[in-house]
Amino acid sequence: MDFVTLGELLIDMFPAETGRRFSKVTAFMPKPGGAPANVAVAGARLGARTAFIGKVGQDFFGESLADTLRRQGVETRGIRFDADARTTLALIAQPSAQLNEYIFYRNPGADQRLRADELDRELLTTTRALHVGSLALSAEPSRSATFEAVRLAKQNRALISFDVNYRPALWRSAHDARAQSMALLPEVDLLKVNETELELLTNVAEVEKGSAMLRARGPKLVIVTLGAAGSYFRAAQASGFVKAFAVNAVDSTGCGDAFVGALLTQVIKFGMAQLDARIWDALRFANAAGALTSTRRGAIPALPTLQEVNDFLRQAPPATG
Ligand code: ADP
Repeated sequence: MDFVTLGELLIDMFPAETGRRFSKVTAFMPKPGGAPANVAVAGARLGARTAFIGKVGQDFFGESLADTLRRQGVETRGIRFDADARTTLALIAQPSAQLNEYIFYRNPGADQRLRADELDRELLTTTRALHVGSLALSAEPSRSATFEAVRLAKQNRALISFDVNYRPALWRSAHDARAQSMALLPEVDLLKVNETELELLTNVAEVEKGSAMLRARGPKLVIVTLGAAGSYFRAAQASGFVKAFAVNAVDSTGCGDAFVGALLTQVIKFGMAQLDARIWDALRFANAAGALTSTRRGAIPALPTLQEVNDFLRQAPPATG
């Protein structure tokens, strides 16, 4: 595989109305979601060979989620079905195009119940990269399973990618989220945070300073995504802001996942050794994938194909940020 993603595959319950808080939403519509699963689909859309590892309930939603990934070209043999817990639901309110609020039905949800002994070792020991998120770190046994997956992937010198993807509702405290995320950093090559997560992990809001602090903890590449302002990177020799593309954004869901999936396809192509020389182009590509995703509703349906990203980059719309 080019990359394997591990973590949550769940149902996003999208609100029937945008511009409203939870109390004013009248109905919710089920759609496939879960950041690591979205990243696997993002990669597949862009031509990479990807697989997903995680656990869903042995229920209607679980079966249909696995089916969705399969139809998107993602290898699904690493998915486990839990007879004793339901597929996790994430209810969403969208007070604005740039803001999602979440309520999780996960007490516990199947995704938290993935055990280390259920991991597909063959997938993990042969993949070129492994991508994980922090939802799996928020509870046992999925936390131990994540660390074991990272250990197995490293046997093959796979690149380890981590998107913090902080969801406050799932943690006992911000302190706990920080501690569990920081514990993984020594194993990580590519770390992606947004501005909130940068501050969560470092207590520093300033991108240049915070990214340097995070890089000192292990990751060779630290990326800070900045929504409509683009992204910032810090590698060994180079660092800088990469402008976003001006688009008509309607829904930020999935932008970060499209960005990570796109970035992974690029980094895998040229290898970490070439990082400093190739990073600007790779981030322009990832910004384009994120921008395109913001122009459509939902997560998986909004993820662009390779042709769409290439066409978009050729037209070179004015960059902002
Ligand atoms: P997350 O918070 O999930 O990391 P972001 O919302 O920062 O994700 O989006 C990831 C990337 O997608 C950004 O770095 C940017 O390149 C692109 N992007 C997101 N929203 C927009 C937007 N409104 N306009 C242009 N690009 C966007």
